[in-house]
Amino acid sequence: RLQISNIVKEFGGRRVVDDVSLTVSPGQVTCLLGPSGCGKSTTLRIVAGVEMQGSGTIHVDGALVCDTVYRVPPEGRGIGLMFQDFALFPHLTVGKNVAFGLKGRDSKTRVHDLLDKVGMSRFVDEYPQQLSGGEQQRVALARALAPRPRIMLMDEPFSGLDDRLRDDIRDETLDVLKSEGTAVLLVTHEPGEAMRMADEIALMRDGRIVQQGAPYNIYNAPKDRAAAAFFSDIN
Ligand code: ATP
Ligand code: MG
Repeated sequence: RLQISNIVKEFGGRRVVDDVSLTVSPGQVTCLLGPSGCGKSTTLRIVAGVEMQGSGTIHVDGALVCDTVYRVPPEGRGIGLMFQDFALFPHLTVGKNVAFGLKGRDSKTRVHDLLDKVGMSRFVDEYPQQLSGGEQQRVALARALAPRPRIMLMDEPFSGLDDRLRDDIRDETLDVLKSEGTAVLLVTHEPGEAMRMADEIALMRDGRIVQQGAPYNIYNAPKDRAAAAFFSDIN
């Protein structure tokens, strides 16, 4: 369970994240949705621990991971990351990419189990450059999930893929994430993606969460004209 409380971040006196609070439960997908520049990636980077907030706190499963003085390093937060340009290691096979960072006797079983889940078992000994974009994305998902993160942060993970493939991969990714029981915070600027994937949508504008709720509630009852306009170009 991820709890983000009252996060504020300023760059050069400009407030790009303005009092953002959010909770993500295990097995649930919460989508941070909003136009370009509204502060989505900055929020995610703060949760990941690669950027520091001005104020506010983050808890994972009830434990504090950071406030303005205390800070657990990114690798100690139990958080997995998946970004569009988060490349696989080119010099390692698919299997070794997924095994990277795993240790112990059961790591081999874990790798096979995950590659099976994402439908990539037969590529275990191939190298990333031999795979299509969608296949690479599936392997990246398996790699991110390998250490069993309690939280998964995804920033526009499907934006490099063509439309049809993207729909398939969204569905498959959801299946895998649900089966692992991971709490997912997904960032996107596409309302269609949020509608398809989210259990809960947090609509963000100018650094603030302006509306939050189940996808169809927001879609059917946007809070204001700007929210309605944002959903009108759904694809
Ligand atoms: P997009 O959908 O285009 O990815 P976003 O919602 O992810 O947008 P952010 O990347 O969080 O937006 O950026 C929010 C604002 O903060 C932008 O105006 C951006 O220019 C600014 N910003 C982000 N990082 C920095 C930084 N390191 N220094 C200064 N300004 C920054
Ligand atoms: Mg962004």
